[in-house]
Amino acid sequence: MSEEAECLICCMEYSPDELPHQGCGHRYCADCWGGYLNSKLETKDSARLLISCPDTDCSHFIRKDFVLQYATGTALENFQELVTAHEIPVKRSLLRTFLDSPYNKQERSSSCTDADYFHYECLCEVDTGWGCSYRCVQILLSVFFRNAPLDDPEIASVYEIQKKLAKLGNPSFKSEHVNTPTWIGPYEIQEFVENYFTQMKANVSDVITVDDESRVGLISQIHAHFQRENPLPLICANGKKTYAITGITSGDERILVMDPHYQENVSSADFSSFFEGNYEQRSSEEDKRKHEMLENAIRWETAENFFTSEPFWSVLFCI
Ligand SMILES: [Zn+2]
Ligand SMILES: [Zn+2]
Ligand SMILES: [Zn+2]
Repeated sequence: MSEEAECLICCMEYSPDELPHQGCGHRYCADCWGGYLNSKLETKDSARLLISCPDTDCSHFIRKDFVLQYATGTALENFQELVTAHEIPVKRSLLRTFLDSPYNKQERSSSCTDADYFHYECLCEVDTGWGCSYRCVQILLSVFFRNAPLDDPEIASVYEIQKKLAKLGNPSFKSEHVNTPTWIGPYEIQEFVENYFTQMKANVSDVITVDDESRVGLISQIHAHFQRENPLPLICANGKKTYAITGITSGDERILVMDPHYQENVSSADFSSFFEGNYEQRSSEEDKRKHEMLENAIRWETAENFFTSEPFWSVLFCI
């Protein structure tokens, strides 16, 4: 029959419904998916949360729910263990906790009143190295929903943001990018925001920040932004990394950076005790990484140093 299709591993014919795939079009039967996933997750040492499509040239990764459906036995147990270890929560209201703590030494500043902290790997999404812009979108939405309470203020996952971007039909983000490690920048975020959150107005400024005059202009734009009532975070990217900016001082021009490039399993309670000066640092490698995250996840940084670290920045202003 013409509707039959072939499993790309065992070459048996099936109806297309019996050949589940991950959006990349590489179709395999349930038995072959099970065999593939079980072999990938066979031992605790070899098991990874992120498993790629069986096609070695394909960059699609396999979603958690899919693995849970097709892996079996020890492989499934190994995977579930990894999932549990990666259930890193979002740090709700971390900005408020920071601003109210003795760790925040800037008194004269204007900032967002509160924001949640989203970062690499949180909520069991494996995005280290490419997901920072999506995390900044989540930070932005956490503030937007506080300002304009909606009925169903659920913040989209990285995967959902990708699906929504693909629906817009812009060639810079196509449906084959969904579920792949695809970086996005301020222009994609602008399009996302303008289409899905029509109450927001979004504008991107491209600035050559090593030019003194342009940089000073950008900083005064940032000042003006945070003078508004209930300001939203800015999202700024230098082509390599994307950060959220949640405030600026009135005097020495430090900006309040919320930095998503951390992937440690640090809890809200760890942050609270760190900001209060009660966090006990131990000397293991893991604890050093945690400490670095506690110190830098939210930090005041000189605007000049921050913006001259790379020559060119795009800054998304949402109001
Ligand atoms: Zn098969
Ligand atoms: Zn594939
Ligand atoms: Zn990044």
